[in-house]
Amino acid sequence: MPAAAHLWVWPVTRVLRGVGRTPEFRWYEDDRAQARRAALTEYEQPEGLTIGWLEDGYDYNIDEVSEEDLADIIDLGSLRQHRSRGWHSCTLCGKCTEHSATSARAGFKYRLGHAEIRAVSDDGVLYVAPNLIIHYIVDHLYGPPAEFLDAVRSEVRRRWPDEA
Ligand SMILES: [Zn+2]
Repeated sequence: MPAAAHLWVWPVTRVLRGVGRTPEFRWYEDDRAQARRAALTEYEQPEGLTIGWLEDGYDYNIDEVSEEDLADIIDLGSLRQHRSRGWHSCTLCGKCTEHSATSARAGFKYRLGHAEIRAVSDDGVLYVAPNLIIHYIVDHLYGPPAEFLDAVRSEVRRRWPDEA
């Protein structure tokens, strides 16, 4: 019997289909789901729209991300929200490698693969991305949906309001 992949995160498909974009979601093989769930303790029930959970073997959108947007994503990543106990490494790289990012606003470097980036849009939609999205953008040319980038800009304005 072939291993049945199942869609774990469904709300993104529905919403993005509604706005006419390519649905973006992450598939898990049944035999790996158990291990992943154990490693990512927060993922019993995703509460927002998940963005950028890339997995080897599944297509993703390639697009340019501006330096400003990337810097904003990295700054939000420095908050290291919803840390997991385990580490997730990039399956697109084909081997286990460590990646990190340096936030200008936070003034420090942090490792990727064990926390989320959370951004709420101006109309209240929560987007949840793995902080590995930074590596996906930089090294795999991943282009996240425009809605996510908008939410990141809003979140940064909210968190660092004193900046011009
Ligand atoms: Zn990679």
